[in-house]
Amino acid sequence: MPYGAEHPKTEPSLTNHLAGAPGSAYLPAMDTIQKSLSNPRLRSVCVYCGASDAVNEIYIRLAERLGAELARAGIRLVYGGGGVGLMGACARAAHSAGGEVLGIMPRFLLAKERIFTDVEHRIVEDMHTRKMMMFEEADAFIVLPGGIGTLEEAVEILSWARLNLHAKPMAFLDEDGFWQPFFDLIERIIAGGFIPQEFRSAMVHVTTPADALQALGDRIVVLDR
Ligand code: AMP
Repeated sequence: MPYGAEHPKTEPSLTNHLAGAPGSAYLPAMDTIQKSLSNPRLRSVCVYCGASDAVNEIYIRLAERLGAELARAGIRLVYGGGGVGLMGACARAAHSAGGEVLGIMPRFLLAKERIFTDVEHRIVEDMHTRKMMMFEEADAFIVLPGGIGTLEEAVEILSWARLNLHAKPMAFLDEDGFWQPFFDLIERIIAGGFIPQEFRSAMVHVTTPADALQALGDRIVVLDR
């Protein structure tokens, strides 16, 4: 599918995917295949992050460093497709550094989130399709600081892991303890007996992009493509 092509309306294939059906049939470019040889297991990472521009610069800088690190490692960035906030910062940095980027944007947010058209992007009809496609296109997830949307996306992926519907690892990345209260809550949930201790090992809290990629690579158990 060419850059900027409108993606046909597809029914979310959660059931099929999570039952183990093959994922996307999109073929990576040859240079991507060559880059991937150095890290054959972690090829595509979905980044969830804030769309607000009204945030402290440290968050924007961290998103840029993550984008550059993904490009350096030859790992494709999958994200929500916007040009705003941490989303835009991460995607522009990855693209400028020569990395592969896939943005997935619902039509109703095209203007609001200012779709970044310099990279491959797909326009879908609704939020559920966007989320499912982001999930299917990624081997693992990184959660940067963000707002309600970021939190919702991260928790949904964790809830699917809790149901044993997938085993894709997730890293929470911040430099200022942004996600610490969330991890404190997870510990409390474990202490209360609501989820088993083992669940905690599927998610990590790190402070650098390099550590995030290392942790995800170490935790990949299934390559579904
Ligand atoms: P936020 O963290 O609120 O700044 O949002 C980050 C991204 O999450 C934006 O691209 C939003 O469009 C997206 N988002 C907002 N609400 C949801 C939701 N319920 N599910 C998935 N993504 C969402």
